[in-house]
Amino acid sequence: MIRFAKLRIVASLLLAACSAPAVPSDQAPAAASASAAPPAPASASASAPAPAPASAPASASAPAPAPPSLSADDAVTLLFPGDASAAAACTEIDPRARIRCLIGKRYEGHTSARATVLSLYEKTGSVVGVEEPYVMAGGFRGSIRIVPELPVGRYEKHLTWVAEASADFDAFFDGVAARAKAGVHYRHRALSWKFFRSVGRTTPSAYASGWSIGYNVSGSLHGSAEAVRETLFHEIFHLNDAARLSGPEQWSRKKLGSIHDAILQKCSTKPSCLAPYAPMPTMVRGGTYYAFQPNNGDAVNEYGADLAARYYRETRAVLRGEKPIKPAFKCGPEENGRAWRILVDEFFGGVDLVAEC
Ligand SMILES: [Zn+2]
Repeated sequence: MIRFAKLRIVASLLLAACSAPAVPSDQAPAAASASAAPPAPASASASAPAPAPASAPASASAPAPAPPSLSADDAVTLLFPGDASAAAACTEIDPRARIRCLIGKRYEGHTSARATVLSLYEKTGSVVGVEEPYVMAGGFRGSIRIVPELPVGRYEKHLTWVAEASADFDAFFDGVAARAKAGVHYRHRALSWKFFRSVGRTTPSAYASGWSIGYNVSGSLHGSAEAVRETLFHEIFHLNDAARLSGPEQWSRKKLGSIHDAILQKCSTKPSCLAPYAPMPTMVRGGTYYAFQPNNGDAVNEYGADLAARYYRETRAVLRGEKPIKPAFKCGPEENGRAWRILVDEFFGGVDLVAEC
């Protein structure tokens, strides 16, 4: 409960997790800079093309495709945005060896951070670099200047938290997969980490786009390892949600839209009415529960991501033999149980370890 209360205060004071365009944020850099102020210097083309990778809709019987991986070019963009010449010193033919070299060069002089980034790459195939500078049109947050910020020195704790979260997600998905009857198709590795700072602001804390996660070293939600884990789980769900279906409609809209719409119809944005339906306690200052906040893209995407974060929170406790989280979300109003089931079956191999209601 303390955790809930604490998060609620943090969130309501300082705003919420992901940027407005969290999901549709393939457009975040490009489109945002176009509409808000001076054209961003960098082209922000980093991950522009829509996320192709996890295309295959999780069909249980399909042969396992090769695990996704980042290319050396991806790593150059991440580590040396706008200055590819700095990468010329790394000439290895083998892409993994080249990426290791690139990481070594970028983190030169930052011994412990370099070790963490290399280790994360070895373990998960993810590369930690920086976001390109741009001006974000942040929906209800207004426009925000984003600058690249490497997670070293005073910001290194964020790198540590990301590495810890990644290890935690590995253990979590191993635990879920071991109990699943069918394959669990959920990409949480081989991600691009784009570190940034929002100038004079503490939002957005993070956003997701095309198999990359933007991470704000001054993000208001990044107060502890635990808060970071849950925020990142939420963001990584957005990536999988966006890649789940072909076509413009996201999985959350298609499968959870009617539930979300009905709740909004019943409660509008009234927090006291929405409380039992909110998967996570995060609230927007002067607004409502994040999963139901207007003017933040299609809010059902946030509902889906918060639902996934709640699944993670409750399931993780069971997997680790910790005290169960009460009350169980699925045991709330009947809409909760329905949404939970749909999510669990689609993304988590049908594995529901939370005790029956
Ligand atoms: Zn989000």
